[in-house]
Amino acid sequence: MDNTKPENTKLENQVIIFLGAPGAGKGTQAARLATEHNLLQISTGDILRDHIARGTELGQRVEPIMKQGHLVPDDVLVSMIGEKLQTLEPVRVIFDGFPRTLAQAEALDQMLLQNGTPLNSVLLLEVPTEELIARIVNRGISSERSDDNETTARARQQVYHDLTQPVVEHYRKQGLVQALEGRGSTNEVYARILEAVQTPA
Ligand code: ADP
Repeated sequence: MDNTKPENTKLENQVIIFLGAPGAGKGTQAARLATEHNLLQISTGDILRDHIARGTELGQRVEPIMKQGHLVPDDVLVSMIGEKLQTLEPVRVIFDGFPRTLAQAEALDQMLLQNGTPLNSVLLLEVPTEELIARIVNRGISSERSDDNETTARARQQVYHDLTQPVVEHYRKQGLVQALEGRGSTNEVYARILEAVQTPA
């Protein structure tokens, strides 16, 4: 028997979750961290928007939901992520926009457990609500996202408060959450993220 070989052959597996209200900067920061750390960014918002752009059946189903700032049903997201995870070996991902409900978080826990993949970090980007609304409205000028307007931005903040805050609590109970100041330049925020990833909770 080769004793030098680690028993866990999936040592390279790494999962990081970005949490934070809409507009907190998850997408921007997750993209940079993924590129610099050889991880795959899985942005459920981007995947769904791609379906809408391609006019798929799923895209047609989710378009009105997203336009109003509501959440797409859990089963859609859970099977989407489940199928994606099955294609990865090793699993080296950053989730941005998932899980967004307690049911999604529990399903993800289960999938990672079955896969023997540990959840390394849950990074929570904190930004006050009024700054978030301002950021989204500002982003809407160039993003052409139909949900980037003030009315929908406020609805999305409410959805975050009601449905995603319990996800923060879920991971907090597991001692996994690192809350980070999300205000400041993107470089400043990224520096905080790097430090957090290097010193897991
Ligand atoms: P933001 O973080 O600015 O709200 P996203 O791109 O993450 O932007 O999400 C945009 C929309 O996509 C959400 O308002 C929701 O309708 C849908 N969506 C994305 N991820 C999920 C998810 N995990 N569960 C349900 N709906 C989702």
